[in-house]
Amino acid sequence: MRMMRKTQLENYRKMLQAQKQTLLEKVKNSVDMNREDSSDEVKDAADFASDYYERELALGLSETERQRLQEVEDALDRIEGGSYGKCETCGSWIAPQRLEALPFAKLCIECKAKEERK
Ligand SMILES: [Zn+2]
Repeated sequence: MRMMRKTQLENYRKMLQAQKQTLLEKVKNSVDMNREDSSDEVKDAADFASDYYERELALGLSETERQRLQEVEDALDRIEGGSYGKCETCGSWIAPQRLEALPFAKLCIECKAKEERK
């Protein structure tokens, strides 16, 4: 079994975290606009907080964006758990080119195509 290189994995992790950040920033901005007090205190609280806060924020996202956020978080979990980069259906490695384009992909291109034909 081939192992994914650590540097490669780190690269995907960065991409995923950037995507997560973009999604959360997007909704944070709209939340801040609705809030009169956008002092540093509020930002500190945001840094301090947690999954709970992120989930609250996620409520401000559209259905598609929430789904994407979930996929990104699942992918980050897979990196932690060591199963990142493997197809959930057939267990083979997902092509690096595919992960570069869609770092949260959990199916290889063949299984994805099969699923879409269903
Ligand atoms: Zn597959």
